Order: sequence, then C-alpha cells, then structure tokens
Amino acid sequence: MARVLYPGSFDPVTNGHLDVLQRASHLFEEVIVAVAHHNAKQALFTVGQRVHLLRQSTGHLQNVRITSFEGLLVNFAKEQGAQALIRGLRAVSDFEFEFQMALMNRSLQPDLETLFLMPSEEYTYLSSRMVKEVSRLGGDVARFVPECVVAALKDPESVPQA
Ligand code: ADP
Repeated sequence: MARVLYPGSFDPVTNGHLDVLQRASHLFEEVIVAVAHHNAKQALFTVGQRVHLLRQSTGHLQNVRITSFEGLLVNFAKEQGAQALIRGLRAVSDFEFEFQMALMNRSLQPDLETLFLMPSEEYTYLSSRMVKEVSRLGGDVARFVPECVVAALKDPESVPQA
C-alpha cells in the first residue's frame, strides 16, 4: 500500500498524534496528514496555524505531507489517491465513534479501508482538548506536545498561517 491519509482536527498536534504518525510513516510509502475544516468544533488555532505546527513538528519524517481539506473526507481521499485512512485508537471510549465513522466511510466508498493504530500507552489519555484545558489553567504541557506547540499555546496569535 503506497499512500494513506491521516485526517483529524489536530487543534493542536500532540505527541499522541505524532506517535501514530511515526508508526504510519514506517509502514507506508507516503502519509498525508489532512487537517479538517470543521465548522462545528470550537477551535483554538486556525487551520493554517495547525498546518504550520504540524509541518514544524514533522520535518524529520521524509514521507509525510501536511495539507488541509474541506468537504467529504472520502472524496478528498480519492482525489489524493489514498488507499486507506489512518485513525488512532486510544481507548474503548474512542471505539464507538470510530466504528460508526469507519462504516459510514466504507458505505460511501467501499474500496477505502480504515486502519487503526494504537499509540504507546503513555499517550492513551492524551487529547488536544485536554492539552488546551491544562495549558489554559496554567499547567505544564511540555511532556504532551512538541516544543513549537508549547510556545504556541502560550501565545496562539503568534503562530503564522501555513
Ligand atoms: P478528530 O477531531 O477527528 O477526533 P483529532 O485531531 O482529535 O481529530 O484526532 C485525529 C486522530 O488522531 C483520531 O483518530 C484520534 O483518535 C487520533 N488521536 C488523537 N489523540 C491521540 C492520541 N493521544 N493517541 C493516539 N491517537 C490519537
């Protein structure tokens, strides 16, 4: 399998996302990380800023490309020539939603598989939402996110748009 797509909000990227991404980059020729434009979710960073932070933290991964998309994920995956979607599974609590989404995506596009990768156990409780909350309340998040994100969380407006 040559090319896979790893979609998500990445608001902002965490070490959990990077763990999954690293695993995928070892398995596949090319991994496209696709930041979704979700209107429903209240975001801290713009899509352009999230792309910028992802690029800054994945420079060492040669076969990873960062982009963003609007509209239906399965259409974007097809456009990009991706054979499968990558999703991270942290805990049983992720399962119900991921299962629904994978089956919906399969019914929309039967030849696009969804593959789940498990992060290292130290990241199983980690989410962008939790990181934002801890940081907002003054907690230290340096263990959970790449360095550029630690700085970005202190001053979100300083992050350039990709
Ligand atoms: P979404 O808004 O689609 O849930 P996220 O940015 O939160 O997007 O996550 C994108 C993908 O990365 C999802 O498959 C999610 O389960 C996975 N993910 C998020 N945090 C982690 C983590 N700590 N470990 C492993 N996978 C994770």
